[in-house]
Order: sequence, then structure tokens, then C-alpha cells
Amino acid sequence: ARKGGGGGTDDLLRLARETFGWEAFRAGQREAIEAAVSGRDVVAVMPTGHGKSAIYQLAALARDGLAVVVSPLIALQSDQLEDLNSLLGGVRAVAVNSSLGDAAVDAAWDAVESGAARFLFLAPEQLAKDDVVDRIGALEPTLFVVDEAHCVSAWGHDFRPDYLRLGPARERVGGPTAIALTATASGPVREEIVARLGLADPLVIAGGFDRPNLHLSVVRHHEEPAKEQAVVEQILGLAAPGLLYVGTRRAAEEFAERLAGCGLRAAAYHAGRRAAERERVHRDFLEDRLDVVVATTAFGMGIDKPNVRFVLHADIPDSLDSYYQEIGRAGRDGEPAAATLHYRSQDLGLRAFFGTHHADVEALLTVVQALRTRGGAVPLSGLKDAVDLSGRKVTSAANLLESAGVVESGPDGLSLRPGTTPARAAERAVETAESRSRIDRSRIEMMRGYAETDGCRRQYLLGYFGEELADPCGNCDNCLEGTAQDLTHEDAAFPLQSSVVHSAWGPGIVMGTDEDRLTVLFAREGYKTLSRRAVEEGGLLRPA
Ligand code: ADP
Ligand code: ZN
Repeated sequence: ARKGGGGGTDDLLRLARETFGWEAFRAGQREAIEAAVSGRDVVAVMPTGHGKSAIYQLAALARDGLAVVVSPLIALQSDQLEDLNSLLGGVRAVAVNSSLGDAAVDAAWDAVESGAARFLFLAPEQLAKDDVVDRIGALEPTLFVVDEAHCVSAWGHDFRPDYLRLGPARERVGGPTAIALTATASGPVREEIVARLGLADPLVIAGGFDRPNLHLSVVRHHEEPAKEQAVVEQILGLAAPGLLYVGTRRAAEEFAERLAGCGLRAAAYHAGRRAAERERVHRDFLEDRLDVVVATTAFGMGIDKPNVRFVLHADIPDSLDSYYQEIGRAGRDGEPAAATLHYRSQDLGLRAFFGTHHADVEALLTVVQALRTRGGAVPLSGLKDAVDLSGRKVTSAANLLESAGVVESGPDGLSLRPGTTPARAAERAVETAESRSRIDRSRIEMMRGYAETDGCRRQYLLGYFGEELADPCGNCDNCLEGTAQDLTHEDAAFPLQSSVVHSAWGPGIVMGTDEDRLTVLFAREGYKTLSRRAVEEGGLLRPA
């Protein structure tokens, strides 16, 4: 609709063609670049490989000034940097991080300070140094890019305390336009990115999550043996190769044996197997010598095999983020592939039960107590020796305390924030643990929502990532069985099921409807009942 619109729009496409040789933008790229060019903060949520880097690269080229790019992995930085330099010619991108010698660091600063380099890549810990921050501030950067922005969330698996510095650091370098990039961002994580980075009215844009060739379906079981039987039968009826994800190592071994007994070339893959065996399974799968790999979540990082024809789950994953990532390994060649979730609803309850963090509360209090007793700063290793908890628990407690603002880390280790009374610290620690367990529960609720929705599963899944799909997909079990249509037939012109509602609780997904009420599932709050009229008249609803 924007084709031939403003000249600015065409300029952007021309820039993309001339710089990268691309024909067109991918979903969400143009909107994100335009916003950043106009000075609006952006959060872009897109799957890996969709083209997130292009957003900051083109925004930087379309604007004047320096783009600071914070990215957690030094190896990744140097890839991006080399790509940029070979595309643009000359030294247009440089990096400053701990892996570089003094001479290289000096050369990098020279290149940005002379204006030759337009991109400065930084590891997050660099922003802990006052001289680095001051030096950047003097350059008055126009863009502040945060790659892997979900690392700022204490609730994610990738939390990095260094990322908590990024919001204040951006302020100190003059508040350049922020571009936060991530592939995993459920509602609460998105909100945390916005809050922690101090973004003002950002454009939050999600795109590229749809994989129309994946057939989505869910099978609900009551008995464990019947579930296992159904999984095996389904695999026997599907085209190979494929992946079966299970919850435990033992299940991986058992399923692999059973499938092999049915004449399939099957192997188990989990963290309990020796590295050499894992590598062999990996290679055999890539080179089509296996029909099925039965795996725990350990399998799949770096799997880029185009012809995976199915990804089945015999146990429910811990979140929709994990689920999406795992099924995303199917059908990369664009040919039809199946993604089926087999589960027992009792297992969801079990996960919810184990998801509560009583143990964490205890660990938090223990760590606070130890810091208090010791007085000054204590290195993490010292803390691990001082308390009777596993090292992992101490690390995660320390991370939580730091993200709750109770503890700070300095060169000598961790210490209670000045002015924080131990009682207050303990209270904040408990609050933090509780809100963590609430978020864990909401993760499970979102997963349950996917498994139990009567609406289009693709609309639900994309809605979770913040991407809207206008019409039911026609390639999921509910669409094909017509359940969705049946449930909404009284209101066919405006199907509510699976719509996204925006309210004070953030985005939520409509799970059920009746004449005057909607049951809506919110990421943080769980299920809420809303008045249908209030939602429709309040303009809170974006129809599916
Ligand atoms: P991400 O950062 O999301 O993982 P990248 O920015 O590295 O993804 O892009 C992945 C690949 O897709 C790169 O090879 C990039 O050049 C290419 N790409 C990105 N956007 C487009 C586009 N609009 N048209 C064609 N190729 C693109
Ligand atoms: Zn559908």
C-alpha cells in the first residue's frame, strides 16, 4: 500500500538494493527502519535469519552519525563487522572488546573519532567503564543498538547482568535512538526490554514468525501408554526424516529403541551421551542416515537441515518460545512438514507445580544473609563457599538480587546496595522470587493456551510473538476440522476467538467467547473475564 508513496520510502528501498542487492524488504523491516530513521525507539522481534541486522544497518546508513552496537557474543560481532566492511568498503565498522590488544583498540577509536567508521561494536561489559562511556558520549552517537535484547530480562534463560547497564549508559551518551533486537520475546520479556532500556513510546514490531508450510496440530491424551503408542504410530505414518522431542533422557532412550524395533533408523540424543556419540548422531542425521532422532532440548542448536519433515513432541515444552524454536527446525525447504504436540493435561499441572520457586526464596534469603554477615564485597566464588547451596542456585540468586536492585556487583564481587537494609533486601528478594514464579506460571498458561485453544493455532502462536495473522491459517488441525468456525459462527463477521486484546494488562489472547463476556489469557495475569461490550467499544480489540 505504501508503494509509490513518499519519496523517503523509495529512497530506503533503493539504499537496500544498492547496499545489499535485495529486491524487497521482509516483513517488519521497513517499518522498523523508518521509525529508527525518524528518531523513534524500536523493539524488533523477529526469528533468527529474518534480517534483524539489516534494520540497524540501513537505519544507520540512512542517517548521519555513529551507531553503537552492543552485542553479547564477540564472535558474532566480528562476523557482522567483517560483512559490513566488505559490503561498504574500507573500515566502516570497528569493535572494542576484551579480546583485542591495545593497538587494535586504539586503531578502532581512531577510526570512529575520525568519522571514517560508522559502526562501533561493543561487548556489554565495556559500558561499565567510565572512560569508554565518556568517549562514546563525546562522539554523540545517533543510534544505540542492543542485539539479543532479551538478555536484559531476569526471567529469561540468557540473562546477563551487564545488560542492566545499557539503559543508564544510553542516557549518559546523550540518549540516541534505541533499536532493540531479539528473536525471543513473549509479552513480559518485551515489557521488560522497554522498561530496562528506558525506551519512550517505542515501535514494537514483530514479523517473520509465520511458517505457513508447517501443519500444526495437537493431540491430547489421558494415559501415558496410549500417548506413547500414538506417537509411535504417527511417526510410522509420516515421511522421514524428523525429530521427536521428549522430556527426559530415559524417554529419549526408550522411544529410540521402540522406533528402531519398528524398523526405523532411530537414535537418541541427550546431554547424558558422550560427546563423540552425540556428534555421530548429529552427523548421521544431517547426512540422511537416520529417520528419526529422539532428543531432549539439548538437540537442535545449529541444526540447519532443510528437509526435516516433522517435529513431534511427546511431552509439553516449558514455553511457547521453546516450542516455536523447536518446530522451526521442520520444513526449512518450504515443503510441507508436520508439527504435532502430544500431551497430557495432567503434565501441565506437574510443570506448574515444579515451576514455583519455594527453593529460590530460600536461596535468596540465604545469600542476602551471607552478604550481610560478611559486610563488604564478596566474590561469587567466596559466596558459593560461604553458603550451603549448589553453585547454580547461588548464581541464579545473585542474578535475581542484582536485577531486583538489591545487590550490586563491582570489581571485588557482590555487595548489598548502600542504604538497603537487610530487611528491605529480603523483602525485595521475596517479591522478585514471587514475580518470577508468576511469570513461570504464565509461561505454562500460554503453552496450555496453545494446546487447548479451539481457534486457529497459528493465529495463537503468532499472536504470542506479537505478530498478527489476518485470517485463520487453514493449515492447522482446528482450521481443518472446522472447530474454530463452529465456535464463532454466531459472529462470523467478527470472529473473536484468537483475537488479540490490548488492555491495561498488556496484550492478551481471546480464548473463549459468549454473548457478553470474553475469556482472555494474558501473559502476566493469566485468565481474565472482560466485558465484550467494553472491549469492542473501547477499541481494545484487534480482530483476528
Ligand atoms: P538476523 O539478524 O535476524 O538473524 P540477518 O540480519 O543476519 O538476520 O539476515 C539473515 C540473512 O538474510 C542475511 O544473509 C541477510 O543478508 C539476508 N536478508 C535480510 N533481509 C533481507 C531482504 N530484505 N532481502 C533479502 N535478503 C535479506
Ligand atoms: Zn489455523
